[in-house]
Amino acid sequence: MIERNGETMACTVEERAALMANRCPSCGNYGFIEGPRGGASLNVYCFNPECRAAFNVGPAFAVAQRIGRARLCHYPPLVHIIQGMYPMCRFTMNTVEWPLGHRRVAISHARNADCPDCLAVLRNQGKRK
Ligand SMILES: [Zn+2]
Ligand SMILES: [Zn+2]
Repeated sequence: MIERNGETMACTVEERAALMANRCPSCGNYGFIEGPRGGASLNVYCFNPECRAAFNVGPAFAVAQRIGRARLCHYPPLVHIIQGMYPMCRFTMNTVEWPLGHRRVAISHARNADCPDCLAVLRNQGKRK
């Protein structure tokens, strides 16, 4: 599952070099959050919550694309709402291991959640009923 939240654009050589050095080509911050994996490629999101530049990178950074900006739900610490097996925002589909810092509550305790994307899904479900 690869999320795209914006225009897809191949990275320049300079941008790929920055990514390889663990540095965000947009804001210069160091460090990325790992997003969903799709086949051999992986989504990475700038660790800086103000920037949230999103990239899809292939093995050994041989290919890399800009894919817009990451959704806020990827940024810990957030309390997500669990519905069935998964967080309502679907920031991860891995039910066993969650990225560090993320927490969860049952839908009956949704008032304790603070993930904006989970809360938006919950509001939309309320409207449909
Ligand atoms: Zn950045
Ligand atoms: Zn969430």
